[in-house]
Amino acid sequence: MLVSFTQYNRFYPMKYLFSFLILFIGGANHSFSNEVKATDPTKPFVVVLDAGHGGRDPGKVAKKYREADIALSIVLKVGAHLEKLPNVKVIYTRKKDVFVELRERAAIANRNHADLFVSVHCNAHNSQAHGAETYVLGLHKNQANFEVAKRENEVIYLEDNYEEKYAGFDPNAPESLIGMMLMQEAYLDQSILLASLVQDKIVNKLNRKDRSVKQAGFWVLHNTYMPSVLIETGFLTNTSEGAYLNSSKGQEEMGREIANAIRKYVESLTESEQLAHNQQLETTHVEETIATTQADIYKDVTFKVQIAASSRKLAPKPNNFKGLTDVERISEDGLFKYYYGSTSDYNKIQVMKTFAQQKGYRSAFVVAYIDGVKTKLSEVLKTKAN
Ligand SMILES: [Zn+2]
Repeated sequence: MLVSFTQYNRFYPMKYLFSFLILFIGGANHSFSNEVKATDPTKPFVVVLDAGHGGRDPGKVAKKYREADIALSIVLKVGAHLEKLPNVKVIYTRKKDVFVELRERAAIANRNHADLFVSVHCNAHNSQAHGAETYVLGLHKNQANFEVAKRENEVIYLEDNYEEKYAGFDPNAPESLIGMMLMQEAYLDQSILLASLVQDKIVNKLNRKDRSVKQAGFWVLHNTYMPSVLIETGFLTNTSEGAYLNSSKGQEEMGREIANAIRKYVESLTESEQLAHNQQLETTHVEETIATTQADIYKDVTFKVQIAASSRKLAPKPNNFKGLTDVERISEDGLFKYYYGSTSDYNKIQVMKTFAQQKGYRSAFVVAYIDGVKTKLSEVLKTKAN
């Protein structure tokens, strides 16, 4: 399935509002670990698998189906698949029927510098509702999402001294959720990517009903410093879905497809990292070439490389221009013109033109501005003849 873009876009004002904070709270702490990952391909990709509930907290119970048992069984199967992959390390918050505090689940992921946190649960309702839904942390969009998060958060009440440990957090109060958005904000795109891969696998490979990617305030997601999702695999209260989830066939299939989604997520990250790395290498290469080229400065002149002209208005970002950075868009003669580079050094702009041509802009050419006025290149070059 596709990510619901209405949900996603409505979320954006919040993103901008908090982005400056994230810079300090999320970004500063974690830029270092990201760097390490990018430069050390031998570091395994660490996945923390979290089977919801356990011990004195059975989770939802319907007939004889216990959420804690089913979640654990699915998680162990997910882990068995992932452990076979090279360069993936699996860590479990529990492997037995024991009680684990919510904050300890998040702490396990943080202590192990995990790259991904996946929490597995089962749903319940007083109707015959059925289907799978995957949550990322966010403000709930409706009461139903809030109710799911509230039920999963309520385990806090089973912990000793919960008032002290979860100071200021009230599972019943929506306003408690706003503060906890900050940490996960930085990982939202990646969390949504994984959540949509999970939904895609469960829905299309296992023919389950698609209840989509959703946002709500789950305590366990808010305290992790990595992309994190919570999967509600299905409803124990639905007659046939409850039986399916409680069966070894159902658990095996769910485990396999959640593992497949995680595998695809890891692969897509490796691909985009590789692409970014290649683009970085090329940029470094062109910068080195420029640095070793003798400068040929034209006073009051700005040279640019025109790479494209179009009626289409494109954002001048690397993705749209074969990885070229430093692209600008200028509206001229009723067209959008796209320029690469900006310098008064004629030798430098020629290196950049060659680079743009190598990138695929075969007809790229140099243009010149004197004091901001576009001027024929041949005339500009004449000003410096002999
Ligand atoms: Zn649960």
